Amino acid sequence: MTQTITVIRGDGIGPEIMDATLHVLDSMNLGLQYEFADAGLVALEKQGELLPAATMDSIRKNRIALKSPLTTPVGEGFSSINVELRKRFDLYANVRPAKSFPNTKSRFPSGVDLITVRENTEGAYIGEGQTLSADGEVATLTQKITRRGSERIVRYAFELARRTGRKKVTIVHKANILKSTSGLFLKTARAVATEYPDIECNEMIVDNTCMQLVMRPEQFDIIVTTNLFGDIISDLCAGLVGGLGLAPGANIGTDAAIFEAVHGTAPDIAGQGKANPCALLLAAAQMLDHLAMPEKATRLREAIIATLEAKDSLTPDLGGSGNTMSFAKAIATRI
Ligand code: ATP
Repeated sequence: MTQTITVIRGDGIGPEIMDATLHVLDSMNLGLQYEFADAGLVALEKQGELLPAATMDSIRKNRIALKSPLTTPVGEGFSSINVELRKRFDLYANVRPAKSFPNTKSRFPSGVDLITVRENTEGAYIGEGQTLSADGEVATLTQKITRRGSERIVRYAFELARRTGRKKVTIVHKANILKSTSGLFLKTARAVATEYPDIECNEMIVDNTCMQLVMRPEQFDIIVTTNLFGDIISDLCAGLVGGLGLAPGANIGTDAAIFEAVHGTAPDIAGQGKANPCALLLAAAQMLDHLAMPEKATRLREAIIATLEAKDSLTPDLGGSGNTMSFAKAIATRI
């Protein structure tokens, strides 16, 4: 069966890492067809809009998008196109794996293999009700947490654990202080957890979680938390395993899912063939899992690991003298 996916090549290093990623996917005979669509600066330049209707229609129709980083110019309507996409498609689950890979600048060369599941649509992060008093002395923000939003993200985390054979879910909160919002999240999460007696569940306050992650990351398997805590924790976890060059992310909703590299457009190295394509490749592996092709996803991950192990054609950020496409070709050869 042929599956069409929307492909957004993006800005900065986006086109280079996307070409490299598609080269690898093409070598796998996946039956994927690509529908190219623009967003970000390139769309603004070509079509006069950051997020053209045709791009939205393409994602809506195909339900799956693979997306490179985008530039959101200041003063162009959105604070972030990524946040706008999450909002418009109700992509409520932000899924960020962090895994130790060989020959990377990891703090923990082995032993980190965890996934942060971050609620993506509510809480302080979305910036609702922001005000600044006329004299500039007082600022406010509304933080809204709902039972529905909490329930669906925690359920997603437990279902992910079951699907992937993971054993434990840690509910991360600050209910001791934020009794209403974090309190509702925790109470809802506890209730959902009772439906999954086969999965171990524990609770941890967010500040302690940060310390534990840095000291003993191997104790974590899946972390589920609210939007702002998840934003911070998932980058902390990327740091544990060698930085953003290896950090993929999925934004998943009921009607659509967008897979992306977590890093930005890296304008300092754009167009030079220096960009590491691993984060987008690992996002593509998440996409294959989502498309019910877990064996293909595993093959892709194993080929990335084998290429890192062999130090074959690695990009300069990994200490190699290869380039974006030669790295991708080395991975494709191993597949
Ligand atoms: P943006 O404004 O889009 O967020 P940025 O440069 O501020 O871009 P990042 O793109 O995340 O933020 O880059 C931070 C640093 O990491 C830069 O020095 C960049 O060159 C480097 N970097 C980011 N992604 C990669 C990559 N895939 N390969 C190699 N280096 C990268």
